[in-house]
Amino acid sequence: MKYPWKTDRRFNSYTAFIQEKFGTRVQKLSLNAGFTCPNRDGTVGVGGCIFCNNDAFSPSYVGGNKAISRQIIEGIEFHAKRYKTDKFFAHFQTYSNTYAPIEKLKAAYEEALSFDNVLGLVISTRPDCVDDEKLDYLVELAKKHYIMIEYGVESCFDKTLKIINRGHNFESAKRAIEITHEKGIPVGVHIIFGLPGETYEDMYNMVDILNKLPIDNIKFHQLQIVKETKLELLFQIYPKQLAAFPTYDSYVSFLILALEHLNPNIKIQRVAGEVRANTIVYPHWGNLRYDQMLNILEKEMARRDTWQGKLYHDS
Ligand code: SF4
Repeated sequence: MKYPWKTDRRFNSYTAFIQEKFGTRVQKLSLNAGFTCPNRDGTVGVGGCIFCNNDAFSPSYVGGNKAISRQIIEGIEFHAKRYKTDKFFAHFQTYSNTYAPIEKLKAAYEEALSFDNVLGLVISTRPDCVDDEKLDYLVELAKKHYIMIEYGVESCFDKTLKIINRGHNFESAKRAIEITHEKGIPVGVHIIFGLPGETYEDMYNMVDILNKLPIDNIKFHQLQIVKETKLELLFQIYPKQLAAFPTYDSYVSFLILALEHLNPNIKIQRVAGEVRANTIVYPHWGNLRYDQMLNILEKEMARRDTWQGKLYHDS
């Protein structure tokens, strides 16, 4: 067999891994626990990352300052209509979900875990918003539940992190990934391809940097220019410089190169981002749904007879 993973997918699918681990599909329920972000409240910055508009990807059921339980009940109803599953992960997604006093975090996480069909937590946060106390608490939770932390890394280059007003450097991300892994918590990372100032070579080189980190799974996103962000204003001035992937085909060509060099042990959670159609400024890619994007990618990988890690060398 060509692939070190158990499916015949062309990449190491996180979805397939979870399905095998739990014996069923487990759907993520996006939640907004009302946390904020140190890059918005002035602690490390104001105004946030230049691409950030959390409203663009939040599903309708998380709006309106609803209690966690209410969001979970409505989320289960929402997903039950679309997917055949009654098992869920509570995904603390909006803003920075470890950025609060520990007692507040405990209350939010434990409210979500009080639902029998919530099997675990996926916690999205910034690398500079974790510490030993929070991670050790998560280690305790992980004795009974699936717990995964997703860090917004976005880029491995400090020059880019500065341009996007990220408010932390790559060393901070590297440290958080390593500490979290050492404590036994699986680490997901979020990477954006096409950020301002990055060449294709830079993006490609990021794969080598990521390969050296103890990452469990990864989400790759294309840069999406969303309404009501600073990036939208920049795009009006520098449209060509911010148009790394004008078509989905151009993105797929790059993504396949990246996947071929990626460590095959790193699971793939996502290969592209999706925001609500009425919020996107650029690129449009013909309003492809995510399942269509995946289908096109895997067909092209099959046509090229290639797969994740085909050109990976452990060095
Ligand atoms: S992308 Fe994340 S870290 Fe950046 S401003 Fe938005 S919530 Fe904060």
